[in-house]
Amino acid sequence: MLGASFLRKTSLHDYAFTIAPFERGGAIQGHARFGCRAQAVLKRISYSLAFSISLLNEEAILLSGSDGLSSQGRNLAKLLDFFGVSWRASTLPALLSDQNINGSGLRVLCSSDHFAALIADLSRDSDRARRWREQIHSVFVYAGDDIAALDKLVKTRPGPCSGGFAISDKLPEFCGIMCGIRIGEDDSQVNLVFAAQEQSTEIISSDRGPVFLKREYEGVPAFLSSGARIIDIEDDLPDGIFDVRHHVLEAIPPVLYLKWAFAATCWSAPERSGCLVIDDPLLRPTYGFVDFRELLSLMRRYKFSTNIAFIPWNWRRSDSGVTRLFRENPEYYSISVHGCAHTRAEFGSADSEHLYAKTRQALERMDQHAAATGLAHDRVMVFPQGVFSEAAMRILKRTDFIAAVNNDTVSFDRNPRPITVADVWDTAIMAYDNFALFTRRYPWSGVENFAFDSLLGKPVIIVIHHGFCRDHCIQLIEFMERLNALACPLIWRSLGELVKRSCRQRALSPDVTQIEMYGKELLVENLSDRTKQFLVRRRESNPSLINEVFAGGRHIAWNGSDDQIQFEVEVRAGENVTIRLHLHELGEVKERVENLNDKARTMLRRYLCELRDNYFHKLTSLSSNGH
Ligand SMILES: [Zn+2]
Repeated sequence: MLGASFLRKTSLHDYAFTIAPFERGGAIQGHARFGCRAQAVLKRISYSLAFSISLLNEEAILLSGSDGLSSQGRNLAKLLDFFGVSWRASTLPALLSDQNINGSGLRVLCSSDHFAALIADLSRDSDRARRWREQIHSVFVYAGDDIAALDKLVKTRPGPCSGGFAISDKLPEFCGIMCGIRIGEDDSQVNLVFAAQEQSTEIISSDRGPVFLKREYEGVPAFLSSGARIIDIEDDLPDGIFDVRHHVLEAIPPVLYLKWAFAATCWSAPERSGCLVIDDPLLRPTYGFVDFRELLSLMRRYKFSTNIAFIPWNWRRSDSGVTRLFRENPEYYSISVHGCAHTRAEFGSADSEHLYAKTRQALERMDQHAAATGLAHDRVMVFPQGVFSEAAMRILKRTDFIAAVNNDTVSFDRNPRPITVADVWDTAIMAYDNFALFTRRYPWSGVENFAFDSLLGKPVIIVIHHGFCRDHCIQLIEFMERLNALACPLIWRSLGELVKRSCRQRALSPDVTQIEMYGKELLVENLSDRTKQFLVRRRESNPSLINEVFAGGRHIAWNGSDDQIQFEVEVRAGENVTIRLHLHELGEVKERVENLNDKARTMLRRYLCELRDNYFHKLTSLSSNGH
């Protein structure tokens, strides 16, 4: 039997936890209406449970030594947990010793040391070799310590090398959105390359040879990486930014393999959405180098959408022709909320009263802007200068905002909380009081970073300032064309719509899908041809903050426990429903009134910024062009 050497860790436990509150009938918080459906829910649960057990065939096996998982093995385990994949650890002798396992669902992940021993083993034992072919779906192998052993599996050549990388465009199923991507040169992260061989298919290549390839061993596909390190997603990111160009070998091969090998069961995003955000402009025919009519025709032609991060202080200054242009083209233009007055670090303060006043004022000004222009805004905060505090996130959560969007992920506080790789790989960062912080990037982070974000299930949010359009948007269009040429097409949305559609989900049965929600609103869409149950969960360390949960305007039962809330919605085929969380009013914080001095300073600052964007930048650009 597979025996005592196993550590067991399955996402089924996770699922059982999710449904447990529904099973406990009486413990359900909320409404009696739900009670009469308990029977049906239980029936569904037993059906789903049976389906989930069959999914266990797709589980991952981490090969370990007799002393447990190695540090790289533990890093793989963290990755599997992150993607919601069931796994267990097994020693080499225990693997394939079970006669009774049916199916061919096992995915093995191991070092080349273990893999070399395993292959040698199979050549000696025909029974084990047969079970290998019958039970193992595929293998992921990273370089172990014993290079001679690896060399026997695939010829290697020593590094180091620092050349760029190319991801093959010949394996679209395996490489997904990373298909055909080129990654720029980086410091020497490659200590070993493989020799090109006929039996193998190159997946990632460096200028010195393949570093990730596929070949068959005893009839089973194996994916071999020449990297000896697997990324530890619990590592802190000192600057809060993940740049895949610095982690090519430790991140891309394992993630590509997991997304391919567990495609049916791992967490994934329901769609790949994108939005361009331009910070600061007033809604006038032109702002700096941005010409809104020109930009609209470019969006139509080159297929993308733009959100203007609008400074609420400017609410009385919009041009009616431009707001009409926005109103009439909601599939291309949207606006979000960019601070309040865009004064220095206005959301970087730790003063709750000040922050509450700023937030309320921002929302009031945006509402007045909507009333005056008829142009609605997305209730998404884009922090000025990227500066925010934990307190700001806590206050925003308690107002009408549904999420925040930012480049920076580390707060402005004196002792900011550490942000890990896993925080940033997540659909949105939930570390700040569980108020979703979606990340965005500048174009110069490279298409490879946006593609990798999308592979992880994150939305693609690009940020620029007006200066990026100084060449009549030529470099912008070149970049958008590269994004639109990715192997999996992006769906361009308004920023609010992108936030509402951002979640991760996995099928638990043909009728039941589990969803993890991030923003305070979520659009649940049933694209199938049958009625489906959606078990929705959202991280919330303080469930007592939640007042009500609405689904399509009706309030629904929910349950809060163990740092999350959960509830269930049924959606008929082809329909969708919007979930809204309503939190209790923020009663304890008083507002503070801005004094006249502050007002004058704010006004001066805004006008000077506009002078800079509209005249100084343009003049310097003209003179630098030699005119
Ligand atoms: Zn700004």
